[in-house]
Amino acid sequence: MPADPAVSTLDQFVRALDLKGRRDHLLWGVWRGFPLGLTLTDGSAQSDALFHLRYAEHAFARGEEPKLEFAEPLPRLMDEGWAEVEIRDDLAWLTLKRFGDRLQRDEVVPALDSLIGCLRSLGIEAVATCHYCGGAEQVTTVASKGRVGQICAKCIEEQIGPDVNRLGFRARSLAPLALLAPLVLLLQSGLWGGIWIGVDWVFEKLGGSIHIHSLAAGFVVLVLAYLAASPAFLFRLVANRGNRRAGLLGAACALLAVPLGELFHVVQQFGTYSVIGPVLKHPTLIFTVLNPGDGLFGILKLLTIAGFIGMSVSWAKPKKIELEL
Ligand SMILES: [Zn+2]
Repeated sequence: MPADPAVSTLDQFVRALDLKGRRDHLLWGVWRGFPLGLTLTDGSAQSDALFHLRYAEHAFARGEEPKLEFAEPLPRLMDEGWAEVEIRDDLAWLTLKRFGDRLQRDEVVPALDSLIGCLRSLGIEAVATCHYCGGAEQVTTVASKGRVGQICAKCIEEQIGPDVNRLGFRARSLAPLALLAPLVLLLQSGLWGGIWIGVDWVFEKLGGSIHIHSLAAGFVVLVLAYLAASPAFLFRLVANRGNRRAGLLGAACALLAVPLGELFHVVQQFGTYSVIGPVLKHPTLIFTVLNPGDGLFGILKLLTIAGFIGMSVSWAKPKKIELEL
């Protein structure tokens, strides 16, 4: 058992107890083998602290209130009105008022240990197994809806379906995304270049007879269709929510696809040799070739890139899992 750490500030406390988890207003980790959650009523060390410890459901004698015996400092803190304890079948609550003061007086870790001592006297021990089925395979400590729990992958799957991999509980391979990325890039840049080749074609066919506003409206529709039907939806199919690298990869594809599409368009317009040759000789010419242009089309191009990056990042955002713990 580790020595009680000396802590006097919230940061020190969070570090000392290794409360690595953070979800909404809940900080959580594992202390003395018990999943431990901490909620601060207004988020600061000066507010009241609400701790909860989880354990596998314990059958207290039917109809009998469990006899609670605490070592110091809990009895004193309760007498003085600084602490409240409530013990249920699978959950013990400890409220510490004016948490900052309790930390300053080094009362928090001792109070938690008094509570754990009381749980042990009731026959409640920290276990390494799932609190819900007792299984020992792939057990993890998670938080949901303001509570922590120790649960196995099988029980999670029972609650939320077989899609455990999409939920960030396990590391997920980026291989499908990495394989898909070049394909997505090619299709996207082809689509982008295609839109512009189409616009050229319309101009050429209709000459001056088409009104610039209808063309602009048509372009907006094309861009929206590009965003909606773009191959990046393939990403959506395999992207793992919870894996930020999926978002980065999607954003990188969007960033690269548009300039590549532009290049494709310019090459189609002027021929491979008249573009590639000069660019190879004077590499800075690439910026002229890829210039988004000014006016409405330029702005739309930049907005499309920005929108696409935003979509890629938001698609890869961790999905909130709501478990009943
Ligand atoms: Zn289980």
